[in-house]
Amino acid sequence: MNILNILFRNLTKPSRSQTPENKVAFPRDFRGELLHDPLQCTLCGSCVYVCSPAAITIERGESRGTWAYDGGRCTFCGRCVEYCPTEALSFANHSAPIVASRTSEITHNEIEYQRCPRCGEMMIPLPVKTIQHLYHVEADRQPTVKVYKLCERCRNRIHSQALKSSISGTKNER
Ligand code: SF4
Ligand code: SF4
Repeated sequence: MNILNILFRNLTKPSRSQTPENKVAFPRDFRGELLHDPLQCTLCGSCVYVCSPAAITIERGESRGTWAYDGGRCTFCGRCVEYCPTEALSFANHSAPIVASRTSEITHNEIEYQRCPRCGEMMIPLPVKTIQHLYHVEADRQPTVKVYKLCERCRNRIHSQALKSSISGTKNER
């Protein structure tokens, strides 16, 4: 086959060049950019504890705390996502952005504390979604949800008072 035949055959075939539009889709469980939702985060520290390369750090101040993530240290093992009790962490279905400098790889998210509606202590309330998930509380049971939005000490007090009154109620029935 001479060169002219090959050339002619190639010219009559459709282009095999790939464009950005026909790139292959990311797999469903792709571990892309690590996303952190500060509204769901309670600064519990579980992600710090399970992260072997120490890519996540937490600082707790008087009225706010900081959750920081160093993308340059992350191995995308997924343990932080797995162990976060409030589902504040997830992987995006796209790759992490390419950054110009090492410092741009670090994400800082500030989390404001709130005052406990009962005692006024500064604290981070549990997200409603977490309350429902952990305590099997229905969204429409607002009084119960309100109890779980208190600080830990007030929650414990209310629960022990409820327990005491139920025990004394049982004794009175006897
Ligand atoms: S495990 Fe989740 S809730 Fe706890 S500090 Fe990390 S991101 Fe926040
Ligand atoms: S994916 Fe793994 S390495 Fe990356 S921040 Fe989470 S626990 Fe650390």
